[in-house]
Amino acid sequence: MTNSNSENTTVQVALRIRPLTQEDLVNLPSRFQRNVLSTSPFTPNQVIVHGDKKLTFNFDYVFGPETQQRDVYDISVRNMVDKFLEGFNVTILAYGQTSSGKTYTMGTSDSVSSIHESRGIIPRALHTLFSYISSAQFKSRKITMKVSFIEIYNEDLNDLLNDTDDDENKPQLLIREDSKGNIIWSGLQEIKVNSVEEVMGHLARGSLNRQVGATDMNSQSSRSHAIFSVTLCQQKQISTNGISSPTPLSHPSTPSTPTKLGSPPPRRLSKILDDGEWVTVTSKFNFVDLAGSERLKRTAVSGDRAKEGISINSGLLALGNVISALGDPSKARNTTHIPYRDSKLTRLLQDSLGGNAQTLMIACVSPAEYNISETINTLKYANRAR
Ligand code: ADP
Ligand code: MG
Repeated sequence: MTNSNSENTTVQVALRIRPLTQEDLVNLPSRFQRNVLSTSPFTPNQVIVHGDKKLTFNFDYVFGPETQQRDVYDISVRNMVDKFLEGFNVTILAYGQTSSGKTYTMGTSDSVSSIHESRGIIPRALHTLFSYISSAQFKSRKITMKVSFIEIYNEDLNDLLNDTDDDENKPQLLIREDSKGNIIWSGLQEIKVNSVEEVMGHLARGSLNRQVGATDMNSQSSRSHAIFSVTLCQQKQISTNGISSPTPLSHPSTPSTPTKLGSPPPRRLSKILDDGEWVTVTSKFNFVDLAGSERLKRTAVSGDRAKEGISINSGLLALGNVISALGDPSKARNTTHIPYRDSKLTRLLQDSLGGNAQTLMIACVSPAEYNISETINTLKYANRAR
């Protein structure tokens, strides 16, 4: 399977193969620990599955079991942070079966005390963001940053940053669309943040609210989608006549790196308001830790469990359909042909998937024979997304 459209789509797909965990080594019979995935040094970004028959898949990036958190960030995420600061909406999604490494990769459960090397994408991205914002070139801008954290469970929305026990008085979360096509999440707590530490505090608090059950495949946290979002509002005085695009950034931490940011200015930013001599640019960064993609166990296909399973699959199914439609030029040209309305997940992310938004899907897989059928399902799903 080859990819012919990676240049003209804004959706990129990475594959991440986790190493065998301590748990695998203790719990799996040794024949099930066999590594069924390999990469070739001669064909970059290709993975080969060694099952009953040999299968190959290609991605924009392939990260093998030895890949460190820092490398995943530097190679596939850092440039999206630059785009976000320029005013684009950005979405990064982690897809895969339970215990394939989604939460580890995204850093959804990280806290201030997490070990530095093992920190995931969220703390790293926030660290880059705050270092930009405190740099000299941002001094003249008025900047506000807010975070929110939402869980979708059974097509119900749950505000993970609202600690109120009193369910009756919790505001109802609703998804609306304004006249400019921006998606408004109303009733949601959006908390202003001024430092990485503050962000990490909210992330850890929300993540605890998500962790209702244990980490087994049937716990609520593995059957729900979690979206951690950062909204950045930049107000900038305009020096030229009319609305100017935000100036390309220079990297505060790596000034000598050749910059990709000198590319042509974005055609349409997520939101620009001409407010006299001030211009406001608002952009949104979504970090999405998706529900486990595994098929329901046959024993669980009755009653509530079956309902949960069906609705999780409907979110992932709708997401797959949206992303594959975005890769189809005949559909992507007209957003009315993109089936965003088929699930809460895709509806919430409507203004941050496709159009000028930047999207990265990270498909996470286990290397072990034991998980081979779910691994192949994940590879097929992710391959369809390209
Ligand atoms: P998921 O969120 O997909 O259910 P987790 O992120 O919780 O999976 O990962 C399952 C286990 O595997 C955790 O103990 C996690 O620390 C470990 N793990 C996942 N990916 C990696 C990796 N790339 N390197 C080391 N450990 C990993
Ligand atoms: Mg998880």
